[in-house]
Amino acid sequence: MSERVIPLVDQRHPSLPLPATVQGHSHDLNPLPLDGLRRPLTDLRISVTDRCNFRCSYCMPKEIFDKDYAYLPHSHLLSFEEITRIATVFVGRGVRKIRLTGGEPLLRKNIEILIKQLAALRTPDDQPLDLTLTTNGSLLARKAQSLKDAGLQRVTVSLDGLDDAVFRSMNDVDFPVADVLAGIEAARAAGLGPIKVNMVVKRGTNEHEILPMARHFQGTGIVLRFIEYMDVGATNGWCMDEVLPSAEVIRLLQTELPLVQLDPSAPGETAERWGYANAQGEHDPSLGEVGVISSVTQAFCGDCNRARLSTEGRLYLCLFASQGYDLRQLLRDPTQSDTTLAATVDAIWRGRTDQYSRLRSLRGPDTASGPGRRVEMSYIGG
Ligand code: SAM
Repeated sequence: MSERVIPLVDQRHPSLPLPATVQGHSHDLNPLPLDGLRRPLTDLRISVTDRCNFRCSYCMPKEIFDKDYAYLPHSHLLSFEEITRIATVFVGRGVRKIRLTGGEPLLRKNIEILIKQLAALRTPDDQPLDLTLTTNGSLLARKAQSLKDAGLQRVTVSLDGLDDAVFRSMNDVDFPVADVLAGIEAARAAGLGPIKVNMVVKRGTNEHEILPMARHFQGTGIVLRFIEYMDVGATNGWCMDEVLPSAEVIRLLQTELPLVQLDPSAPGETAERWGYANAQGEHDPSLGEVGVISSVTQAFCGDCNRARLSTEGRLYLCLFASQGYDLRQLLRDPTQSDTTLAATVDAIWRGRTDQYSRLRSLRGPDTASGPGRRVEMSYIGG
């Protein structure tokens, strides 16, 4: 029998050196930055806490994230003012979509204040942002209306199954599925749509929940997306045997629910879209669609337009990166202007050439990805 070894984890990897930008120099910030592979920066994910009230074994296993785990002290977290300032800089450099994540973002006290500040931002062509949030849904029933009132547009809810026993065991804190479903209903009632539901599929754990989940959400307007279990972080004991490739998910769905593949709705979209088909084999929009996110078996670096800001203000250029750039040091240095911040973001983005997922798939899907130690999903944000 193979023994699973769970390494000790320390998120505080040294940060990467910031590119040199000359203070007081009038930076030429035109045009908007493209990275080394000509990818624009349009999507920013901001982690607002490294804490979560769930202990999903694929993300924050109990053995590591126990009562002695050293979470970031409050003074290390970016304040709402700091987040809004850096978000404003990113929006000026092309970002049009901001997703709040974590940890569990709804655990961050007064998150509505941050949402209100971000909802007031406008793109250079005076458009509101696409402002969304990913949550485990546990606090959504209570908070959906105040989130909507603050200016949040929509939510993505993580839900790994409908069977209560399976769900309680996957979240590992005995949280009932009915409360997450009530959260989804509250989000719908508050108008936080279109709602997406993300299901991480682990072979041997919850693949029998795929069809019940699809049946449950078909025709509801809620888009269910199946995510391959990924080799992020260093604590979840990932192995390929527990990955159910998206192609198998689609094959399984097709045994009961005919599907046709749909075009991507936006460049850089993470999910491949499949629409439920009618008797003529055409997509029936009233039945809706599902998505598959194949981060393990199919790389999607080619048009990746996402950057990630960790809870303590480090900028990561990929989920599989092991190091980030410490933007907090600039934010907390009173001599640094927004122009210098913008020039730094530009320089970092222009220097980006990574393709972690693609290179990993060239090495073969059987190996955990990336050079060096990867950061935890709960720290960088999913
Ligand atoms: N707490 C929030 C939530 O549950 O949605 C936001 C943070 S969570 C890290 C974001 C997403 O990452 C969730 O959908 C979670 O299921 C997913 N996730 C975490 N670890 C994963 C892994 N190893 N493979 C695939 N998805 C993972």
